[in-house]
Amino acid sequence: MAHPSRRLSHNALGDFYVDSSCIDCDTCRWMAPETFTEREDQASVHHQPETEEAHRRALMALVSCPTGSIGTTEKHDSAPAIEAFPDRIHDDVFHTGFHSESSFGAAGYFIARERGNVLVDSPRFTMPLVRRLEALGGVATMFLTHRDDVADHRKFHEHFGCERVMHERDLGPATRDTERPIEGDDPVALDEDLLVIPTPGHTRGSACLLYRDEFLFTGDHLAWSESRGHIYAFRGACWYDWATLVRSSEKLAVYSFEWVLPGHGRRCHFPKQRMAQELERALRWMRDAA
Ligand code: SF4
Repeated sequence: MAHPSRRLSHNALGDFYVDSSCIDCDTCRWMAPETFTEREDQASVHHQPETEEAHRRALMALVSCPTGSIGTTEKHDSAPAIEAFPDRIHDDVFHTGFHSESSFGAAGYFIARERGNVLVDSPRFTMPLVRRLEALGGVATMFLTHRDDVADHRKFHEHFGCERVMHERDLGPATRDTERPIEGDDPVALDEDLLVIPTPGHTRGSACLLYRDEFLFTGDHLAWSESRGHIYAFRGACWYDWATLVRSSEKLAVYSFEWVLPGHGRRCHFPKQRMAQELERALRWMRDAA
């Protein structure tokens, strides 16, 4: 839990603060940008929330912070912020909140489908979230984009009995018993609206999940960059091979989608034609960054 004695000096005076345990995962900054910003490789409060909505978003960031690094000097009822998750992004696709430190604060997603709900990567296994997922029908499938964002996968599997899906090249001691390993580089249909697309590069077994030709869950393969103003990949955090990552991104050009929903980095949404142009732009940047 955040402690006032560790309050970072950059924080604006007032109720909300970030303490020195922040791991700079970026979650609070994209969830509540009106309150949180970056200072010297950590988050801090740049404006105390003034509106009801800003206050609500700041509390949602507080409960999602993987390291409990956000605190308040006043007492607040956090129940509404907890109950706000999973937080709807669009249609039947939700952000789970409750990020886990063991996946460095990566975002998890939930798809509420009649043919079986899907959890994409692993949030913290915490009972308020678990109860909400139960109320939405549980989890039938857990898709793990790559080895770094698996966090509490086993607890979700044991609680919901969900089938875990992950590329076999990223399996390790903690994930060796994954029920459905994906092999090779060809896409694999999990259902008529769910397609696993192997995208090695960030790791050997990275894979994206395309839902309904509309939502692309990218893990740490691609994300939107606020500072660059385009889709990019993590050149400085490419653990396997950049040239392979670029080739994997070229493969995505044959698919159409409107949303890029990453584990780290920012999400983005464009109409399909514009998204195709954005992907081309990202590919030009990636080739130059080789
Ligand atoms: S969510 Fe927590 S760990 Fe992540 S940047 Fe914000 S304060 Fe730091």
